[in-house]
Amino acid sequence: MSRIIDVLVVGSGLAGLVAALTAAREGRSVRMVTDGMGSLAISGGCVDLLGYAGGQRLNDPWSGMDLLPPAHPYRLLGASRVRAAVDMLLQCAADQGWPLHTAATPEGAPCNALLPTIMGTLKPSYLLPDGLDPAALARARRILVAGVHGLRDCRPALIVS
Ligand SMILES: Cc1cc2nc3c(=O)[nH]c(=O)nc-3n(C[C@H](O)[C@H](O)[C@H](O)COP(=O)(O)OP(=O)(O)OC[C@H]3O[C@@H](n4cnc5c(N)ncnc54)[C@H](O)[C@@H]3O)c2cc1C
Repeated sequence: MSRIIDVLVVGSGLAGLVAALTAAREGRSVRMVTDGMGSLAISGGCVDLLGYAGGQRLNDPWSGMDLLPPAHPYRLLGASRVRAAVDMLLQCAADQGWPLHTAATPEGAPCNALLPTIMGTLKPSYLLPDGLDPAALARARRILVAGVHGLRDCRPALIVS
């Protein structure tokens, strides 16, 4: 293994993995060092893009890009670069056998899904694993909340209340 590398990525969370993948695809030699367990390991597998902007909850995350403060990372990057990053993530996930999809409005437009969180609140999320059907949640008349033994932050009684 060469000791000379172009890019050193520290941390193997979503940011580090995408940075490393992007650099490798551009022909750079990449090395990644990581330590400990990042939040990716306990995330629900959904990717939140933009749930709130301008003091309102967004059905369509793309409609909120212009409402963000000028120094927000999405404004600095520009919506077209954010869209390209989302497309890359979708392609990459599909290539790895973990396809993601978006919820859709009754008219078929992609939109945020309102998903229950581990704290019992609802949050808007954009990219969802294929096994997750937000419409099924909306249709449900009764919901079983299962706890995970050993996962300290999962409190079914709180979610139910
Ligand atoms: C419980 C929970 C649920 C979440 N659910 C969602 C969700 O459903 N959807 C969503 O979009 N977001 C969710 N998030 C937020 C999401 O996980 C983070 O926004 C995202 O993981 C941040 O990515 P990151 O690469 O910046 O950081 P991380 O994913 O935290 O990655 C940082 C990496 O750096 C490593 N590291 C740390 N210190 C060092 C060091 N000194 N040396 C080397 N490596 C180091 C860590 O081990 C880790 O691998 C959730 C977060 C939590 C905590």
